[in-house]
Order: sequence, then structure tokens, then C-alpha cells
Amino acid sequence: MKILIVGAGIVGLSMARRLDEMSLPYTLIERSSGWSQDGAGICLPANAVAGMERLGLKEPLVAMAHQVSEVSYVKPNGQVISKASLLEAPLDKQPFLALPRAKLLNLLRKGMDKKVRFNIQLKAIRQSEDGADVTFSDGQTEHFDCVIGADGVNSQVRGLAFEQTELEDLDVTNWRFLIDQDTSDLQPTYYLGSDSFFMRYPMPDNKVYCYAHVIDEDKKLLNINNKHFLLDQFKGFEDKVIEAINAVGPDDEIIPGRLNAVQSREVYSGCVVLIGDALHGCPPTLQQGVGMGLEDVHCLADLMEKGVEVEALLRQFRAKRIERISWVIDESNRVIRMASKGRSFLGRVIRNFIVRKQGPANVAGWRKLLS
Ligand SMILES: Cc1cc2nc3c(=O)[nH]c(=O)nc-3n(C[C@H](O)[C@H](O)[C@H](O)COP(=O)(O)OP(=O)(O)OC[C@H]3O[C@@H](n4cnc5c(N)ncnc54)[C@H](O)[C@@H]3O)c2cc1C
Repeated sequence: MKILIVGAGIVGLSMARRLDEMSLPYTLIERSSGWSQDGAGICLPANAVAGMERLGLKEPLVAMAHQVSEVSYVKPNGQVISKASLLEAPLDKQPFLALPRAKLLNLLRKGMDKKVRFNIQLKAIRQSEDGADVTFSDGQTEHFDCVIGADGVNSQVRGLAFEQTELEDLDVTNWRFLIDQDTSDLQPTYYLGSDSFFMRYPMPDNKVYCYAHVIDEDKKLLNINNKHFLLDQFKGFEDKVIEAINAVGPDDEIIPGRLNAVQSREVYSGCVVLIGDALHGCPPTLQQGVGMGLEDVHCLADLMEKGVEVEALLRQFRAKRIERISWVIDESNRVIRMASKGRSFLGRVIRNFIVRKQGPANVAGWRKLLS
């Protein structure tokens, strides 16, 4: 089988590693001109760690990551609404880890430099009965039996091969940054504001990953990425939040973004299949990007290992993945919408009541996924 992987991010690299393991040849293309870095952090729930274990990378991952054991949802003033342990079944199958995104990428990139064709993207995909002719941005055309789009939430592959290509905009602008701060007493803490949200998540080496978001229907805030804006936006939150924003140094990066979700449930079209964020990119409510992406990788690779031919392989891949993927997207979107209810006093009371009764929404989601 001649395989093309589009995108050398976390999921594309993981797919390539599984194919290497099975000695299946592939072409891996990446649109950036070299390895690029993203300064913020990444949180890995137990299923993501299980996915890394299947790649043979759990040991080095654990060595470079910080393990967390409890999650709290709190009011802006720090008063606890709900707390949950991560050390009880079914959450205790693997550790919950967190680390700078760059470290996770470096781990997956190790030994892969020569296997990536950088600075190249797609121009066209022409499908026929026996595969696809893919034209690259350098003008070359090659034939492949299977094209795997691992090119992220704004997937070009989806745009070229699928019918429903648009993303759903969830009316939320977000910012991410890493700061130096003592983490000895810190467990993941999520502050539920009225129209805003702030997360403090401990990382290795006394670093804290901060994520903030604000409801922003008109996208007015999208281009703002300075700490003075964040200080103003989160004034009234407890001192630890203000200290975290104040800890952003002049050379530290605040990364702005927008919360979007994939709407298509096509999964594949002909011999073109999507995996990772290209397939199920959605708000990071359940921090399932890496976990679900690695589940895609192992599911697809296991089917390839069995020697299933392409049409049946992609049909079976969809059948195995669609329910779980749809649930994660829908649930992640639902929690974002529920958080938005906090804009009115009554909405806030109802939202906090639900969180108090059901526990932190992400932990409830992880329990379901790990059961
Ligand atoms: C604000 C935010 C916070 C998040 N937090 C978490 C978290 O804590 N935990 C978690 O598990 N997940 C989190 N996620 C999701 C997580 O970042 C992704 O799931 C993860 O990066 C894996 O994505 P991927 O490899 O599928 O795509 P990407 O990381 O987007 O990688 C895609 C790769 O493809 C390349 N590419 C794009 N287009 C083309 C093209 N046309 N041709 C060739 N190459 C191309 C890109 O340059 C990139 O290298 C978060 C996401 C957001 C937005």
C-alpha cells in the first residue's frame, strides 16, 4: 500500500511511527519549512498516556512530565465549587500528565527528521477507482492507495476531499501562556467566571500552563495578546490568577486563538481519511486532542496490520471511531455552551449547581471515556 500522511504534528508523527514499526513505507509531508515550536503546555489524560505507551514512549514521557492527581472547579474568588480525585477507578488506568507542548513534540520528532518532506502542501487530490493522484505544491503528482489527513483543525485535506468542510465557531476567544511559578501546592484549577474562564495547570520545573477564554461573539478580542488586557479582563479573580498574568515576562509569548469544532462526520471519502484534529478538532474542554488522535492512529494502524484492503479498512475505521469521536465533539461543545450560561445571575446559579452535583465536567467526561 502506498500511503501519504499530510501533516507532521503530534498525530501525523505518531502515525508515521506506527507505520515504521510495521515496516510499511509512507510519504510524510509538512507545510512548515522546518520543525516549529509552540510555547504553551499540553495536558494528557490517561488515554493519551496509554496511546504514548503503545508507541513505546511512556517511559521518557513520564520522566519529562508532571503528574497531577486532583481537579478543582472554583469560583473566580477561589471558592471551591467541586473537586475530584484522578486516582480512583476508572481514571487510575494511567497517570494524568502535563508538559510543555515543545517537549512532547521533541519526543515524537526524535529520529524523524529525515522522514519528513518539509515546505510542501497539496494542490489537488483526484480520486479514481484504484486510489488518488495527489498534486503537491511543487507541481509534482504522485499516486497513492491511501491518503491520511493529519493536518489539523483547518485541514486542507478535508477541504479538498470532503463535502462538509466548515468549522463551527463557538464564539470564544482564548489565550495560552506558560509562566514560572512554584507548583508545590498546585493541582489543576479551573475558574468559572461569568463570561470568562481561567485555568492554572502545573507543569514540570515549576512552570504553570495558563489558559484563559472569554465569550466574544464579534471576534473583537481575537487580535489582542497583551497581559494588560488580560489583567483588566480578569480583575476580580483571586490573587493567584492576577499573579499568574503578572508573571508573563516581556519576552514571553501569549498565544491567542479561537475555539472551533469540526462539523463533518464523514471520517473518510474514497481512499482519503482524516485523523487527529482534522477529524475531531474541538474545544479543549476534555483535553482529548492528543488522546483521541492517538486512538485514531492505533485503530487505523491495527487495521492496516491485519492487511485489510483500503475500502474495507476505512469503512471499519469509521465504524469503530464514529460514536466516540461524535461524543467528544458534542460534549466539548456542550460544556463550552453551559459555561456561557454564567453571563446571567440565574444561569450562573444553575451552572454552578450542575457542577456541584455532577463534579468537574472534564472529570465526568474522562470517567465515561475510560470506562
Ligand atoms: C487552545 C487549545 C488547547 C489545547 N489543549 C490541549 C490539551 O491540553 N491536551 C490535548 O490533548 N489537546 C489539546 N488541544 C488539542 C491539541 O493541540 C491537538 O489535538 C494536537 O495538537 C494534535 O493535533 P494534530 O496533530 O491532529 O494537528 P496539529 O497539531 O494542528 O498538527 C497539524 C500539522 O499539519 C501541518 N499542516 C497543516 N496543513 C498542512 C498541509 N496542507 N500540508 C502539510 N502539512 C500541513 C501543520 O503545520 C502541523 O504540523 C488543544 C487545542 C487548543 C486549540
